[in-house]
Amino acid sequence: MHELSIKMLIEEAFFEVKHKDVLGRIGRLKTAHGVVETPAFAPVINPIKNVLSPAEIAEMGFPLLMTNAFIIYRNYREVGAQIGVHKILGVNTPIMTDSGAYQLMEYGYVDVKPEDIVRYEEELGADIGVILDIPTRYYMPREQVVLEVEETLRRARRSLALRREAKMLLLAPVQGGRNYDLVEYSAKALAKLPFDLYGVGGPTQIMEHYKFSELARLVLTAKRHLPLSKPLHLFGAGHPMIFSLMVALGVDLFDSASYALYAKDGRYLTPQGTYRFEDLSYLPCRCPVCSKHDVEELKELSAREREKLLAKHNLYVILAEMNTIKQAITEGELWNLVEMRAGSHPSLKSALITISEHVDFLEEHSPITFSKVTGIFFTDTYSLGRLEVYRHVKRLRDSYRLTNKRVVLLLPETEEKPFHRFGPISKFLKRLLQEFRSLTKSVEILVYTRYFGLIPITIDDIYPLSQYEVAQKTAKENVDFITKCIREFLLKNQAFIKAIVACVNEEFLKGYFTGKLKRLSSSMGIPIELLYINVDELHKDETFYAILSIIAKYINLPK
Ligand SMILES: [Zn+2]
Repeated sequence: MHELSIKMLIEEAFFEVKHKDVLGRIGRLKTAHGVVETPAFAPVINPIKNVLSPAEIAEMGFPLLMTNAFIIYRNYREVGAQIGVHKILGVNTPIMTDSGAYQLMEYGYVDVKPEDIVRYEEELGADIGVILDIPTRYYMPREQVVLEVEETLRRARRSLALRREAKMLLLAPVQGGRNYDLVEYSAKALAKLPFDLYGVGGPTQIMEHYKFSELARLVLTAKRHLPLSKPLHLFGAGHPMIFSLMVALGVDLFDSASYALYAKDGRYLTPQGTYRFEDLSYLPCRCPVCSKHDVEELKELSAREREKLLAKHNLYVILAEMNTIKQAITEGELWNLVEMRAGSHPSLKSALITISEHVDFLEEHSPITFSKVTGIFFTDTYSLGRLEVYRHVKRLRDSYRLTNKRVVLLLPETEEKPFHRFGPISKFLKRLLQEFRSLTKSVEILVYTRYFGLIPITIDDIYPLSQYEVAQKTAKENVDFITKCIREFLLKNQAFIKAIVACVNEEFLKGYFTGKLKRLSSSMGIPIELLYINVDELHKDETFYAILSIIAKYINLPK
């Protein structure tokens, strides 16, 4: 067999994707100690002293644990290597070991050579090992980041050369932080090296500052330039609120000690945010901890006991969120979940706006799900970045063309869909057919909508164009989007457009919208007629003939 196809077989064997939605996927990652179903969260365990025992955590259902090879090295050295990491933690589940990079970031140095630590991770029998990289710190000047990215790449190459057995999967983290060009450079260079997994490094400080836009950009930049066939790990991301978004952007694995750190600090996680335990009067959760205890009981416990139970609750919440995400992936509903979670933090909303800059990449690699039966709920303007929106706008731009000279009639969006079945529009169309049949060839009717832009009335019942709801008032962003779509349509079909007749009915749109339309018309040299109408009266004599008489200025009406 050809060498390349053997290699592909091996790669396929260790990571297999079962379901996909957006860039999220349910996968099977094979390790020496068993299969890890992804997306998965690996709780970080301190090998010296942990709030919950590793066995207790594994029994809760976490398919992968994360511990620190550097701490084991510093405390147990040879003995550690002899008994192995699974015996040290007392579990038989797959274990990933971190290399001490985090300690390096915190203290500035570690007393071990990068190549020694990869060897040591192998000796420990880790299922997944991480090279000793240099995590980019948040406020590091660019010149320093350049040096550190180069040093991480040197270490990555050296670690591969030193690798002795292929039993341990090896992971290399992409660095660069907020210097996205360096992130791209780092990802491209690492993509050329045969690592089993890749990681996105150093997000802890970005997370602490709630800079989710930066985090989204960091992850997407790395993902774009790494092999899609390999799993992607996000270091130090431990809040369930961001998991769905990160999975949608292509993250397969997470690790964090947040469950323990939050518990120590008396914080109670939920998928929507964090509570201080002391502020709680009720427990908004039904996990085994919260079903057995109420707030008063927990308050009466010793601080140590309470910390344990809070840590346990935090872990259950994380597990439940992972299951919610996996269920959403199998149903093709991941983006709806992302938007729901985004509602809980303004910084998540702005992350969704950032993502719309990368929507071409998301679209290219996202499966089109036809099995969907549910409609789309547009709740905020960040939904303009949705794949369905991008796909419709692109399809209209690429393959919808006028072929003879026409007047373009723009109608406002109605609540009832498909538009051509909405009473007044339906009657209007019937009247047009009965009274001016030949006109139908010279009038192009399009509905302007807040989230799909222009929808030709002839295709308005195609999914998802007729299955959506908007739960929000028209915003400036919607109007800007509509105008952009109209401009594109006019540009593509300029030669076939005699005039635009725009029916406007919404208070907000008047002024801002009509001003934009007028400017568009004069810059393109296409005449525009504005008509203020009530769409419910479209079919009534007055409105019907008002529209027709304007059209008649550009097309000879049949007598
Ligand atoms: Zn709970």
